Amino acid sequence: MNDFKGLGLIEPLTRALDRDGYEKPTPIQAGAIPVLLKGRDLLGVAQTGTGKTAAFVLPMVQRLHEANAKPARKCPRALILAPTRELALQIHESVLSYARFIDIRSIVIFGGVPMPKQIKALNAGAQILVATPGRLLDLMNQDKVRLNKIETFVLDEADRMLDMGFVHDVKKVAAAVPEKRQTLLFSATMPGSVRSLADGLLTEPEYIEVTPQSTTQERVEQRVLFVPKNKKRTLLTGVMQDDAITKVLVFTRTKHSADRVARHLDKSGVRADAIHGNKTQSARQRALKAFSSGKLRALVATDIAARGIDVDGVSHVINFDLPNEPESYVHRIGRTARGGEDGQAISFCDAEERGYLRAIEKAIQQAVEVFADHPFHDEAMAEPEREPERRRGGGGPRRPKRAGHGAQNQQTKGKGHRPKDGKSHGDKGHGGHGHGKGGAADKNHGQKRTNAKPVAQKLAKKKAAKRKAKHSRGGPRAA
Ligand code: AMP
Repeated sequence: MNDFKGLGLIEPLTRALDRDGYEKPTPIQAGAIPVLLKGRDLLGVAQTGTGKTAAFVLPMVQRLHEANAKPARKCPRALILAPTRELALQIHESVLSYARFIDIRSIVIFGGVPMPKQIKALNAGAQILVATPGRLLDLMNQDKVRLNKIETFVLDEADRMLDMGFVHDVKKVAAAVPEKRQTLLFSATMPGSVRSLADGLLTEPEYIEVTPQSTTQERVEQRVLFVPKNKKRTLLTGVMQDDAITKVLVFTRTKHSADRVARHLDKSGVRADAIHGNKTQSARQRALKAFSSGKLRALVATDIAARGIDVDGVSHVINFDLPNEPESYVHRIGRTARGGEDGQAISFCDAEERGYLRAIEKAIQQAVEVFADHPFHDEAMAEPEREPERRRGGGGPRRPKRAGHGAQNQQTKGKGHRPKDGKSHGDKGHGGHGHGKGGAADKNHGQKRTNAKPVAQKLAKKKAAKRKAKHSRGGPRAA
């Protein structure tokens, strides 16, 4: 039996969790479920991967069940707003799964697909509605859905919702929901805009913050390669020769670039596809499914399209382009190292992106290790100001500590009160000290820019040497 009963959850819900193999509540679940069962409002600072979906869905389903809420035509009783269709679908699927032993129905609606099926579902009725803001407003304007019976209103990934320009839509939806309701707002970050939205929507909320950012960072081995822009695609082909890269999410800044990179990978023999906002919903779903099942080795995505993707076993994240927002970097690398696994993130940084890297390092409070022994790394491009930092580490760049923390190790902070400045990076200092992969003299600066095959051979040689060094316990050796 799992530990969820102690939180006050009823048997049909704990049974579903049992079947799913959930043994222990994650910190956000332990903090949120009892409070939400009492009907309180909640402000949660948490991102995908913390178990926040179950944290709000389980009490919602239980309260609807206990209130004996019946599905009514056009009039849902609980509304979950999500910024993207992918996230909306995932939440809907979670509802169906957690509520599979209870008679509670859920509908999901989002844009980019025809309306009639969604209208039909709304007419048939459901207690829970999961929606993206744009399509919801469209359907409200056509009187296909009414929000006057909503008792619980959840805003998920509020920061992303605002980033995507949905602030007015969200406010319109909120205005259509009865004032007397339970409101929950989740956000990975808490900038001023989200705080003021929360202030307007929530009433004396419980405040729960979990800090997965630091735990993800600890589990993900992060490295950066300095490379000229025009060499990135060749570099990617070279990097992909590593067999350890079994399932990789490649991030690009633009939709166009995502397509180009996916085509390039495909041509070089790596099964790949792209997802971004210009693809149809079914094309995105197809690509995601193929990636999930292992038919594709690489999925190339833009930030927005990748938002909310929860694919197990992503071994690597490659930042083909560095994001200009540090938070996106944290979200991206959080796609790997799921469920307590380790993961790797490799970033390609060209001359114009060095400022982005600096901002990222400041935000994550650690220096990203330079992949200096990679044949394509261009040492000359590394910023001069990185030099003293690397030397201080004892000859090697500092590597984030990899403590192997699982979800259970997330810290909940500041329960029951609001943050003053919102954003928190925890109290983490720099992770670990230099693992000293040999001093500069050990690094093979001479080998750069060559075609894929020699690169693969060099990589294989280096990997073999590294493995040998690791096993010999005599400290790292030069390849
Ligand atoms: P979420 O943060 O809601 O996107 O959840 C991230 C992943 O963790 C999902 O794949 C969930 O199925 C899984 N998960 C959520 N809660 C638990 C738990 N208590 N034990 C094990 N897995 C969980």
